Amino acid sequence: MQAYIGLGSNQQDPEKQVSRALLALHEMQDMDLLKSSSLYESRPMGPPDQPNFVNAVAKISTELYPVELLAALQFVEQQHRRVRSMQRWGPRTLDLDILLYGDLEMSTEELRIPHPGISKREFVLIPLQEIEGNLIIPGQGSLHELIERLPQYQLTKIATPDVGP
Ligand code: ATP
Ligand code: CA
Ligand code: CA
Repeated sequence: MQAYIGLGSNQQDPEKQVSRALLALHEMQDMDLLKSSSLYESRPMGPPDQPNFVNAVAKISTELYPVELLAALQFVEQQHRRVRSMQRWGPRTLDLDILLYGDLEMSTEELRIPHPGISKREFVLIPLQEIEGNLIIPGQGSLHELIERLPQYQLTKIATPDVGP
């Protein structure tokens, strides 16, 4: 199955956190890293009194089921010493979200796919477009349309990743 993962960090050298997370996905036994986007800098979405984020998107191939994939990603988050705070969308060393998993649409308490934030988040849509221009987001339409519907966005490409194909 092919899946897309959203990466984000705004603590402790975010560029390095995201690059190392891409490397971790690359090295993980149960998945292949097929593509990774450039790194982008974005304004924080939640509380404004926190540093800018570095974001990227990765395309992977995996035989893990969605819940297993989530567990694998949470393991990588733990390795990056992410501490979950009570503050929603607060600062973090690493956040890994499952954006898409094939054509799957699912909604449980633990896991919603496609990720519910996709359609409104420039820091997801723009990197997605970089690696897969013609995507259809199940239940939401084409990536092109979603990008056209974005209000003016502020996203800066800062680097191409050090790792990955
Ligand atoms: P957001 O999900 O709006 O980007 P967040 O990433 O800050 O916010 P987290 O604290 O990282 O939220 O995750 C909260 C919970 O979201 C996780 O424990 C997980 O069970 C759940 N979750 C639901 N759908 C997804 C998904 N597609 N990918 C990752 N986690 C998800
Ligand atoms: Ca997130
Ligand atoms: Ca998350």
